[in-house]
Amino acid sequence: MEFTEEHEQFRKSLRRLVDEEINPHVDAWEDAGIFPAHELFPKLGEIGALGLEYDPAYGGGGADHSFTYVLAQELGRVNCAGVAMAIAVETSMATPALARYGSHELKSTYLEPTLRGEMVCSIAVSEPDAGSDVAGIRTRAVRDGDDWVINGRKMWITNGTQADWLCLLARTDPDAQPGDYHGMSLIVVPTSTPGFSVGRKIEKMGNRSSDTAEIVLDNVRVPVTNTIGEPDRGFQQQMAQFQDERLVGAYIAVAGARKALDRTKEYLQQRVAFGKPLLANQHLQYRLAELYADVDTLDGFLQYAADRFIAGHDVTREATVAKLKVGRLVREVADTCVQFHGGMGYAEEMWVARYFRDARLVSIGGGADEVMLRVITMLEGMGKK
Ligand SMILES: Cc1cc2nc3c(=O)[nH]c(=O)nc-3n(C[C@H](O)[C@H](O)[C@H](O)COP(=O)(O)OP(=O)(O)OC[C@H]3O[C@@H](n4cnc5c(N)ncnc54)[C@H](O)[C@@H]3O)c2cc1C
Repeated sequence: MEFTEEHEQFRKSLRRLVDEEINPHVDAWEDAGIFPAHELFPKLGEIGALGLEYDPAYGGGGADHSFTYVLAQELGRVNCAGVAMAIAVETSMATPALARYGSHELKSTYLEPTLRGEMVCSIAVSEPDAGSDVAGIRTRAVRDGDDWVINGRKMWITNGTQADWLCLLARTDPDAQPGDYHGMSLIVVPTSTPGFSVGRKIEKMGNRSSDTAEIVLDNVRVPVTNTIGEPDRGFQQQMAQFQDERLVGAYIAVAGARKALDRTKEYLQQRVAFGKPLLANQHLQYRLAELYADVDTLDGFLQYAADRFIAGHDVTREATVAKLKVGRLVREVADTCVQFHGGMGYAEEMWVARYFRDARLVSIGGGADEVMLRVITMLEGMGKK
């Protein structure tokens, strides 16, 4: 991937924003278990970071995916994963389907203010009884005249306590049952609609600054025109939207891993034991070198995947492989960083403990490692659907 002066200018403005508007507040936001999305997102909107690849007619940047890669690299420098993930939900997880398939009216009403950072959104797919198995969802939207009446529960919803709207996956074909891969739709649900409520905010071991909610939908009535694209195509649209999510999540995590290795190297340079800096120890040097090599290798694969995405190829395989291998690598990096910091790696006062907790999510959120293996198994013609 080649970066131009334009990429570097964009990177500079992002870096300034991360250094000045995000990192100084991370500790307080982690303690609070939430960050102020409605204050932060307009600042990202102002520098055009929220709608890089979207149509300029709706306030997007009309840029290609290489700018999203730069955005993700800089989000990997945020001193916690929670805020980076919440931003990625806004840019790459809850909005791609709306931008791709949404009507002009839906895009004007929801996408445009979201790209300015005035509206916060969530992607609402997972449920208490259906996470890995998306086709198992039970939330139903039943047609009543020109409206959908929606009932169900959604689980693990990032930005869920402060979202203005959800990109919600619901079963819309009355004949389709949990387990069927058809008969679902993606629907824009404004959270101000009567019947919408936050059941609870979930306390988590990591990504603590990101609010994660269980959502209750009790006879929530929205117009059928809030359906994104064609009704009953939601499962397929969401599978495509997952490719954006998995790629961007992988870009952020690899950038975060590189930063964690850099910080560990610096620590080992300063920390003296047995009369010399710990970094003089060849065992530690080689272990870090090995992990840098793994990060380089995966980063190269991610850039290859990004280039294929830009060229318009289906990147299901690349996004799946990236998600799987990055999830595994960051766990290894995080564990090594803790180990090489000794007791300080175990202390909450250092960045390492948070990184260790945050990194664990990569192998679970957006599809667990085993689900990625299942996709690769199917792509290789093994196993059954
Ligand atoms: C912090 C956080 C934020 C999240 N944000 C969102 C969000 O914004 N929107 C949203 O919709 N969802 C979100 N999720 C949900 C996330 O995508 C799911 O947790 C994930 O897909 C796993 O689903 P599950 O938790 O129901 O696990 P389950 O489906 O219960 O699976 C449990 C475990 O079983 C194993 N497993 C599952 N299937 C198989 C299989 N076929 N073969 C072998 N092993 C298998 C895996 O190890 C898996 O981790 C979030 C989750 C977390 C923790």
